Order: sequence, then C-alpha cells, then structure tokens
Amino acid sequence: MSRSFQTGRIAIMQSEILIIGAGLAGAFAAECLAKSGHSVLIVEARDRVGGRGFTRGFANQAPLLEYGGSWITPWHARMRAACGRHGIGLIPTIQVGARAWHDGNGLRKDGPVAVAERSGYERAMAIVADDAKRLKAGFDHDRAGAPLLSVTLAEYLARHDIGMPARSQIMAWWTISGSGDPAAVSAGEFLASCGYIDGTPEGMMQALSHTLSPGISVLVDRMIAASGAKLQLGFPVARLEEGTEYVRVTARDGRFLEARAAIAALPVNVLGDIDFGGLLTPVQLATAQRGHDGRAVKLWVRLRNFAPGTLVTGGLRGLQWLFAPYAAEAGCVLAVGFGLDDGSWRPDRHTDMAAAVARLAPEAELVGWDWHDWCADPFARGTWLSAPARGADLSPATWCRTGRLAFATSDLAPDAAGWYEGAMSSGEAAAQAILDLL
Ligand SMILES: Cc1cc2nc3c(=O)[nH]c(=O)nc-3n(C[C@H](O)[C@H](O)[C@H](O)COP(=O)(O)OP(=O)(O)OC[C@H]3O[C@@H](n4cnc5c(N)ncnc54)[C@H](O)[C@@H]3O)c2cc1C
Repeated sequence: MSRSFQTGRIAIMQSEILIIGAGLAGAFAAECLAKSGHSVLIVEARDRVGGRGFTRGFANQAPLLEYGGSWITPWHARMRAACGRHGIGLIPTIQVGARAWHDGNGLRKDGPVAVAERSGYERAMAIVADDAKRLKAGFDHDRAGAPLLSVTLAEYLARHDIGMPARSQIMAWWTISGSGDPAAVSAGEFLASCGYIDGTPEGMMQALSHTLSPGISVLVDRMIAASGAKLQLGFPVARLEEGTEYVRVTARDGRFLEARAAIAALPVNVLGDIDFGGLLTPVQLATAQRGHDGRAVKLWVRLRNFAPGTLVTGGLRGLQWLFAPYAAEAGCVLAVGFGLDDGSWRPDRHTDMAAAVARLAPEAELVGWDWHDWCADPFARGTWLSAPARGADLSPATWCRTGRLAFATSDLAPDAAGWYEGAMSSGEAAAQAILDLL
C-alpha cells in the first residue's frame, strides 16, 4: 500500500475498498471480496441494509412481508445458493386457484374476454407470444422486421391495433414487468417477462416460484456479517473524486473517506444526485440524469372474504394486479397488489383503495393496507429496472470500471437485470473488476 488512507472530519474506519450502498449488490460484492484479504468498508445512506429489498411487518406488526422484491425464479442460482449458505428458507408460491379478469368494462369470472371479442383477444396474445419467443431466441425484431426493444409499449400496442380486453390484461401484467410509463418504457420489458416460460403474460406466475423466509433483509444482513466487511450506516454519499492512487467519498455532512478503490452499488436513479466530478463518461452522465423508468406501486392489502390463491388482473387504472399468496389468517388474507405510480390514483387515499377493491374484488371487504413509496424514497427514486425504449444506455459494457470506480446494481446487471439475481451478478462483476485493478 503506497499511502495511508485518510478519514475526514469525524474519524471512522479505514479500508482499502469502499462499497457505497448496502443493498444486495453491495452485500454480494463484499462477499466476493472476502477471500482477497483486502479490507472492505460498506457505507450506506439509510439506517438499515437491504435497499430495495425490505422485509418488515404489516403496519409494523406481524407478519413479516416483503415491501420491495419478493420472488425468485427457479433459475436464479446465485440467490438460491446464497439462501442455502445463510440459512434462509424458500417458500413455494401458492398455486393460482380462483381467477378473475377485468376487461376494461367490468369484472369477469368466465375468462378474460366476452365470446364476441375472443378472436381479437386471441390474435393479440398470439402476437405477444410469438414476439416474446423471438426475443428470447435473441432476435430484437419481429417477423416483419419491426423493432421489439427500441419501441415503447404504447407504440407496440398501436402497431398491432390491440383492443381493450387484451390491452386491459397486458397493462395488468405490465405493472409487474415494464412497470413504468407505457409511452416511454421499452415493450421489450413486457415481452422478455412473457418469454420466461411460454410467451404468455400468465406464464409469469410460474417464474415467481419462491419467496424467502424470514426475508431478504435478513439475507443481506447475514451476507454482510459473513463477508467480514465493516458497515457504516447513515452515510449518504454526496461526492466521489479520484486521485492518482485513491478514491475519496464525501458524505452530505462533509465527512469523507479515502480508499484504493470503490464500488458504487447504487440504484441508477440516485446516481444523478451524486457529484462524480469528471469521473463519468458523457454517456454515463446522460444516463445517470435520465435514469430508468421503474414506477410500480406494490402494496399489501388485508382483505376479508378473498380466498388464498385468488388472482385478479385488469382494469386499466389504479390497482391492476391482485394476488393472495398466503393462507388466510383470522378470517382475512394478505393479498399483494400492483399498479403504476402514474398520478391517476393515490394508494395512500382510502377512497382510491376502496374503489380499487370494489372494482377487482367486489365481494371482499378492505380491512387495511400498507406499502412503501419507492418513487418518493430519496435512496431509490423508483422500483426495479424498467428500461426506457430510447435515451438511456444501461448496458453493462457502458458501466464497466472507470479508473478506480466500479458500478454494481441490478439496474446495470450483466444477467437477470432488474431482479435480485441481477444485483448479485452485478456485485460479482464489480468485485472482480476491482480485484483485477488491485
Ligand atoms: C416494489 C418492488 C418489487 C420488486 N420485486 C422483485 C421481485 O419480486 N424479485 C426480484 O428479484 N426483484 C424484485 N425487485 C427488484 C429488487 O428489489 C432490486 O433489483 C434489488 O433489490 C436491487 O438491489 P441493488 O443492490 O442493485 O440496489 P438497492 O437495493 O437499491 O441498494 C442500493 C443501496 O444504496 C443505498 N444508497 C442510495 N443512495 C445512496 C447514497 N447517496 N449514499 C449511500 N448509500 C446510498 C440505498 O439506501 C440502498 O441500500 C423489486 C423491487 C421493488 C422496489
């Protein structure tokens, strides 16, 4: 080591490698660095670890629920291995039992569409399935040569003149895939999710195979403890600078730390809040300012008279996806719901929630609900990765190491981007980039 590292204003721990952000990407980067012998310090803005993984009680009481990410798929190998390593159980997702669809006009229990509109609906879903399979096979255009990735969902729906019942279902599944403004986000976000299983939106249910017990927050906590890294909570980074042999990281209150290298394990949507000096390339800077478009609303709804396993989708506004994944407790179920944060409804307003439940589950009684507002959260500024069709470069190649700084986040992952698994793949890649440097 050629220089001693400084800490400023308030003396805190010294380290050779700084990881900024104690989400899953930062925690796995720390685990990957553990055997290298380098000292690692993780700094985190919040007073908790886990980031967009956030396990807490419903209305801060039992039971524990996931307010950020919940599900892993059957093929998320890093996540499954980490759960095994750290004693985290995997709970299989309950099978879908009762099914209802809102076709844009009303709720149906006999299928997603009236008989008279069935052929248009089936034509639309066949197009989706074909395009989803082509995307999965590596094509970025459809059979007619039209693009699938650089087109927004709104353009895609208009291209195929998709009618209301199919649109109602596509928009419902959009809330758990594309999850942002359909006029800005790539249709590829939806098609890629349809392609996980059989090309249909409904197939997404089979991908959401397991949740974690007791939860993602406990997993991240155990990963950091096992890595041996030091952890400093309450350190919101405001500035990053690079010297010839060190990186300096300064908090909003002026405290600073220096290390030989750093990993920014931060959501893309907060990068624009940090002063990187001249560290970012023009493309990185433009993307940091633009961000991704993930603006989902996820909430937990306590309902009476709603059977476990029931799935309701559709409605075109507000809450559009509602599923009860657990057995009933004391006559009620906790259902997970998704919509978009698009200004058309207020999930914190009782009238909006009561209207949503009346629309999707008229026989059920709304007992309560709880959620975390990720879009208003200053250390997330959005939900999971939802790539704009144009104007942002989120490719891992663009975000590989610059100087002494590497980037890790699920939003920029080399594989499984947007998922927990992607956070891990990005943490692994960033740790390797820093080890190559040192
Ligand atoms: C509602 C919701 C549902 C989701 N559903 C799923 C799902 O079912 N399955 C799935 O696999 N994924 C899901 N995801 C996505 C998954 O949660 C994320 O991909 C993953 O948690 C991202 O991890 P990360 O480490 O890249 O980022 P984060 O978890 O965001 O971690 C970044 C960390 O950086 C910290 N930070 C931010 N700014 C600063 C700063 N200035 N200084 C210091 N620290 C800072 C943050 O506080 C945070 O702890 C969901 C996400 C949300 C929000």
